[in-house]
Amino acid sequence: MSDTLRKAAVTGHPVAHSRSPLVHGYWLKKHGIEGDYGRMDVAPDDAERFYGDFAASGLVGANVTVPHKETAAASCDWLDDAARSMGAANTLWIDETGKLCGANTDGLGFLGNLDQLAPGWDANRGMALVLGAGGAARAIVWALLSRNYTAVHIVNRTQEKAQKIADEFGSKTVAHSWDKLGNLLGEADLLVNTTSLGMSGKPPLEIDLSTLPGSALVTDIVYAPLETDLLKQAAAQGNRTVDGLGMLLHQAVPGFERWFGIRPEVDEDLRKLILRDLGVSA
Ligand code: NAP
Repeated sequence: MSDTLRKAAVTGHPVAHSRSPLVHGYWLKKHGIEGDYGRMDVAPDDAERFYGDFAASGLVGANVTVPHKETAAASCDWLDDAARSMGAANTLWIDETGKLCGANTDGLGFLGNLDQLAPGWDANRGMALVLGAGGAARAIVWALLSRNYTAVHIVNRTQEKAQKIADEFGSKTVAHSWDKLGNLLGEADLLVNTTSLGMSGKPPLEIDLSTLPGSALVTDIVYAPLETDLLKQAAAQGNRTVDGLGMLLHQAVPGFERWFGIRPEVDEDLRKLILRDLGVSA
């Protein structure tokens, strides 16, 4: 491997499970780029030093996964709007002046997935109903507000966490306890599950969609299984649905473009590659 080879990596702790090397490796090969994308485990007690002196890693950029997204953001000289409002960065690069820049692309991944698989999905910009109030929910609320949704309602088991996001994002965002879900469904133009419920090995997401308007789009960011029970129920009653795999793939696009100079596409072969690796049937 030459010293001038552009190298990027997924950084975090742990990183062994990450599919990012597979995604970026696919694009590097497809575009015939002589670059490298690997894994770099950064121990929690080394994170401040590592991101604080990122240039010393020899990487041109990196993805950041749990638990270092906040530490990475705090080490950056510049943050994009999403990373600034979330206080967390999942994509880093060093710019031409040597500054460490950070972005949070989870929200862009969510938007890219819906734009690709449900074109025109945001034409109404009405009421979005978000289930869950974790890290992914925060990115998705940011994304929906960036598309000028009129109202974003967040329903979470722990209402205080939903309230915290609502307080951060302002008056278009409203927090609710889980028992309000039944009333809210009838008003929703978009329903998003961001909880881990319904994922293989996790408890089911118990929900009755019968009052959901037929025009509402339903999306689940859980992608294992690919077609969750939520999506099955929605499809069975005629609602449009989008699975969560594309969010994972689209969030990787901006990083690859920064590091390797080509904006890659999320295509069917990439989806199949990742599904095979996850052992998930399409
Ligand atoms: P997180 O920060 O840990 O949040 C988990 C959320 O699930 C919280 O709202 C939590 O509610 C809720 N939850 C968990 N167990 C529950 C239960 N038994 N009953 C009710 N609510 C429950 O996780 P995250 O990072 O936001 O990720 C959430 C899910 O999205 C995961 O399955 C993850 O794999 C997936 N994800 C997918 C993508 C993608 O690219 N498709 C990206 C990021 C995440 P409380 O607040 O009450 O605990």
